[in-house]
Amino acid sequence: MYMIRKEVDAILEEDFEIFLRDSDLFEQYQNNQLLCSCCSEHITKENIFAIYYDDGFKFCCIKLECMEIFNERKSN
Ligand SMILES: [Zn+2]
Repeated sequence: MYMIRKEVDAILEEDFEIFLRDSDLFEQYQNNQLLCSCCSEHITKENIFAIYYDDGFKFCCIKLECMEIFNERKSN
């Protein structure tokens, strides 16, 4: 199982693609099917902020409001 880094500020592009391949999500990523769990924006390697696990892999983009929601979530 790939180790998920929950508290990184930015995921390295290369690590992100390795994660996607390891998780069988790369095809969904290429088809623009990965969405930010906060704002439903398409997740790309340019806007990925964090990956977390909550009944499936969830993604958070780098919008300020999304990062705030994500950080709130962590403290709960
Ligand atoms: Zn977002």
